[in-house]
Amino acid sequence: MKKFACLLCVVCIAAICCVALAACTADKMNTAVKNGDEYTIVAAYDDQAHIVSAVQTIKMKNRSENCFDSVKLHIYANQYRQDAENSVVPNVYHTKAYPNGESWGDITFDSVKVGGAPVAYTVEGADCDILSVPIEGGLFPDKSAEIELTYQVQLANTHHRLGYNDNTVNLGNWYPILCHVDNGCYTESPYYNVGDPFVSDVANYNVSMTLPEKYVVASTGELVEATNNNGNVTYAYKADAVRDFAMVASTNFTKIARTVGNTQVNYFYYADTDAEASLDTACGMMEYLNKNVGTYPYPQYNVVETEFCYGGMEYPNLAMITSGSASYREAVAHETAHQWFYGVVGNDQITNAWMDEGLSEYLTYLYLDSTGAMPLSRNMLGCTQTYVTYVDVLDRYYENVDRTMRNVADYNSDSEYVVFTYVKGSLMFNTVYETVGADKFWKALAAYFDEAQFSVAPASQLIGCFADVCGDEAANIFTKFIEGKEVIGKVTD
Ligand SMILES: [Zn+2]
Repeated sequence: MKKFACLLCVVCIAAICCVALAACTADKMNTAVKNGDEYTIVAAYDDQAHIVSAVQTIKMKNRSENCFDSVKLHIYANQYRQDAENSVVPNVYHTKAYPNGESWGDITFDSVKVGGAPVAYTVEGADCDILSVPIEGGLFPDKSAEIELTYQVQLANTHHRLGYNDNTVNLGNWYPILCHVDNGCYTESPYYNVGDPFVSDVANYNVSMTLPEKYVVASTGELVEATNNNGNVTYAYKADAVRDFAMVASTNFTKIARTVGNTQVNYFYYADTDAEASLDTACGMMEYLNKNVGTYPYPQYNVVETEFCYGGMEYPNLAMITSGSASYREAVAHETAHQWFYGVVGNDQITNAWMDEGLSEYLTYLYLDSTGAMPLSRNMLGCTQTYVTYVDVLDRYYENVDRTMRNVADYNSDSEYVVFTYVKGSLMFNTVYETVGADKFWKALAAYFDEAQFSVAPASQLIGCFADVCGDEAANIFTKFIEGKEVIGKVTD
């Protein structure tokens, strides 16, 4: 929202600034598109066998300074198999994820080709979750390769990121995706069942999915064509500069839509009894972040009611929201915040989950405060009580309790991950907010968004933007919280 100004020239200057900022974001988007790898996936879903069959081509370039003998891809779909060492959910969520009993899934490859020639690929990694594609003679820096994968994904009957259930078919983390390269090495981290154990680079996608015409589909990207052939519809999507590609299909979806800025916001639902209010939340959060952080650069955003074992799950241009969740609207706001932090600005969600989770949670609290739905102070009091109590209980039973904000693999339980990432993460951002004030907080966050969009940002970049705008005091707050040396006020209420 703009304030009315008395002088026309002020309006003009503001308008010119807006155009300049929009051009800047468009330039960054164009650069990201130009530098992104190209995924083309031609897929079909058999809803009787619950199998996705696909032919996938990746045109990729080695942008590191190292030569690779092989290209590595995550095959998260293989984590759903019966003989996986680690389940995709912690034990406490098992019943929620598998309400109809045990069910399994996997991915099997019919062929893997490089430059059109079949190669002897291997499935490796800590839990058979990495596809290794050999490159004859090595893939040197700045050299490109074209990889073709033909495969089938068997879906499990589960309320999880990937699987089918009574209401929806969830296709999250369903196709082989290139491992992120960090310091010249592929990051082959496994599918931890704590947090969102993913890190990926923005790329360009052309995806087609054929399935029976009774399904309505929500997807990353823009629908460019839909063709009906004997009762099956092929939907063709295009998505530029996104870091993943997800879909949810249902025979029960109703869709409502609205426009926010340059983005069409769609809400797909089947059980929500106040769909307009849920769409209000998504649109309100988008307006709030467009105004305070920076403009969402994609033309589509889909909020999707689905069956899921946690509160919600973020993907580029798409948020899965758990049907019947007690905090449904908060989840809509939280997952919408992820469109900025996870989606546009990426981070390593395994080593620094607070960068997107803590921030999205805190932005949700700020938004709820701005609408009058819930005062910030009340949510912060709740966070303080939760964190102090949690640490206090640990202190009674253990010596040298680890208060650091850690890699997801280093938390002892899912609840510890949640307390340290969401709750303590919110307290950390709130301490910065209270210390530097709202103006500088938003200015620093906007600078971080502008600087880091379409990249995988290290923690030092986020902290550096706050240090630049707010001074060393803000940087010290982040460091103290991350290192477990924070001082959180005594809870009196
Ligand atoms: Zn989240």
